[in-house]
Amino acid sequence: MTTSPSAAPGPQVRQVVRDLPAYVPGRPPAPRPGVTTYKLSSNENPHDPLPGVLEAAVEAAGRMNRYPDMGCTELYAALADRLEVPVTRLAAGTGSVAVLYHLLQAFCEPGDEVVYAWRSFEAYPIAVAVPGAVSVQVPLTADARHDLDAMAAAVTDRTKVVIVCSPNNPTGPSVRRAELEAFLDRVPPHVVVVLDEAYREFVRDQDPFDGVEVHRSRPNVVAMRTFAKAYGLAGFRVGYVVAAEPIAAAVRACALPFGVSSVAQAAAVASLAREPELFARVEALVAERARVAGTLREQGWDVPDAQGNFVWLPLGDRATDFAAAAERAGVMVRPFAGDGVRVSIGEPAGNDVLLEVAAAFRA
Ligand SMILES: *Cc1c(COP(=O)(O)O)cnc(C)c1O
Repeated sequence: MTTSPSAAPGPQVRQVVRDLPAYVPGRPPAPRPGVTTYKLSSNENPHDPLPGVLEAAVEAAGRMNRYPDMGCTELYAALADRLEVPVTRLAAGTGSVAVLYHLLQAFCEPGDEVVYAWRSFEAYPIAVAVPGAVSVQVPLTADARHDLDAMAAAVTDRTKVVIVCSPNNPTGPSVRRAELEAFLDRVPPHVVVVLDEAYREFVRDQDPFDGVEVHRSRPNVVAMRTFAKAYGLAGFRVGYVVAAEPIAAAVRACALPFGVSSVAQAAAVASLAREPELFARVEALVAERARVAGTLREQGWDVPDAQGNFVWLPLGDRATDFAAAAERAGVMVRPFAGDGVRVSIGEPAGNDVLLEVAAAFRA
C-alpha cells in the first residue's frame, strides 16, 4: 500500500516555536559615502579591543583545530578568584542569554510561569517560551522602574523563575539593594530569582546591590553577568551565572558541550586581568552618559534614570520617526515601535550627532 506524498503530514514544528516572537537586533548603519556613521543600537562598547586581550584571542585562534576546554578551567579559576566563590558555583555559556536559556530549561516544565518586568530585555519572552513556560509580565512604574511589589504579588504556585533586570534594558533605572532585599524576603524559596546584571559596571546609583553578595545568603538567588558590555567582548559570546551549587550544576548540565570557544575563554581571562584599564573606559562612558542624559533633559526630554550604557527616550508613537531621523543623520538607534527609543552611549562624536537630532526633533 502506498500513501500519496501530498497526504502525508510533514515535520511538525512545536506550537510554542511557531509562536516565538522574533528577536530584533539593533541595526548596523549602511555605509554612506561622506557621512560618518555610528551604531548606537545594540549597547555595545564603542572602544576597540584592549591590547593584551586581542593578543590573547589571536594566540588562542592559533589552536582552532582543537576543541576548547569544555570545563572552562582557566576562566572558572579566574572568576572564582575574582569573585571569591568556589568554581562549583559557576556556569558559563555563549553569552548570558544562552546561560538564561539553560537555566530556564533546567527549571521550567511546560506551563510553568516566569515573572519579569515589562518592558524589559526582549530576549526574555523568547527564552521563556522555548521550554514551553509562560511569561508573566509586570508593567514598569511610571518612572520606568521595576514594580517589585507587583512582581512579588505576581508570584504563584506555578512560578519557577523571576528575572530582575538591573539596570533595566531598555529603560535604564537600576534596582536598589534595600528594595531588592525586601522583595527577596517575599519570594518563596522554591522560586529561582535571576539578577540580570549585564550593565552592573555602569551603575552609579545610591545603594546598588551586588548579585554575587546577595546570592551568598540566599540560595535561590542567581547573579547573571556578561563579558559583552563593560568588558567589550560582545562578538565573542561569553557570560556566566554565580549560583548555589545545585543551580549552577543544573545550568552546566543543560549547556551545549564545548559552547564557549577557546578564543572567548582566552579573551575573558585576559580581560579579567586588565580590569583597571577596562574600568577606566567604563568611567569615560559613564561620564558621557551623564553628559548625554543631562543635555537631553535640558532639551526637555523626559529621560528616566540612566544607569546602563544607554538612555531611553519615551517617544510613544513617534519612536520610529525619531529612529528614521537619527538614521538620516548617520546614527543608528533602537526603536521600540509605539513605545520609545533606546540610544547606546557611544563615542563622543556619535553622541553629539544624536544630541543634535534630538534637539531638532523637539523644535
Ligand atoms: C546585553 C544584555 C545581556 C548580555 O547578553 P550576552 O548574551 O551576554 O551578550 C544580558 N541581559 C541584558 C538585559 C542585556 O541587555
